[in-house]
Amino acid sequence: MNLTLMHCVEKKLSEDQMIDSARLAILENPENASKNSNEVENLEMAIEVSKKWSNGRTLRVRFMGGLPFVHEKVKQYANQWSQFANIKFSFGNDPDAEIRISFKQDGHWSYIGTDNLSIPKNEATMNFEGFNESTRESEFSRVVMHEFGHCIGISHEQSSPAANIPWDVKAVYKYYEDRGWSKPVVDHNVLAKHPAEGFAFTPHDPQSIMQYPVPNELTIGNYEIGWNTKLSDTDKRFIGQMYPLGRRSPQSDDAAYLKPDVAAAAMNSDSHSSHLDTH
Ligand SMILES: [Zn+2]
Repeated sequence: MNLTLMHCVEKKLSEDQMIDSARLAILENPENASKNSNEVENLEMAIEVSKKWSNGRTLRVRFMGGLPFVHEKVKQYANQWSQFANIKFSFGNDPDAEIRISFKQDGHWSYIGTDNLSIPKNEATMNFEGFNESTRESEFSRVVMHEFGHCIGISHEQSSPAANIPWDVKAVYKYYEDRGWSKPVVDHNVLAKHPAEGFAFTPHDPQSIMQYPVPNELTIGNYEIGWNTKLSDTDKRFIGQMYPLGRRSPQSDDAAYLKPDVAAAAMNSDSHSSHLDTH
């Protein structure tokens, strides 16, 4: 097996940034406030805050370098989310763009949802290492939709409170350490799960674009997940519940992005019993 690991890393804010990010998250979308906390002055409360953009939001996206061909691929796949959710992307050179994409740093990564607001404007919030004319189409599809999933507020599917992957923990640490990941990075991105309280999630969806591949050698018994390259039916439904089409947030300055036909089709496209849990 190739020892190069192109698994995305969910970027975490520093503790200082985290306090500010809670304030910004609630300013962006009052629904982000935890039911139990009116104040966000201490870190524990801050962690409970959700990171959803306001519904109907247009996120401005600026490229920091990269080839025009690659920019078009990024636009093409990012916009797939907008078919199923009331959120859209405006690509351009706006210095105040909320999402800033670099191609020069290591790996594939993004900050989560409104955390992007806490990153200095001269720094990237998302990175695609090595994208060029010879990048495979399936790679553009897989990586771009995954990172844009993060930037609109979705975490890794293996970190879902509902995930029940039979990890062989020792093998997992060894596998990722051989590929340069420290134990805390493995914990954060692979093994740890979000607590269910205050966290929106569906039943575990192995087909999700937000799910890592899971090699059989990292699990106990015969369990594996391949490389997902498309939005799953549950991804489409979940994002449509997070950002309902046809509804407009009072915070949004933008016209609502209405595609009711597509939304209805997405909602009816499978009979899977997933649902949005908000505790
Ligand atoms: Zn990721």
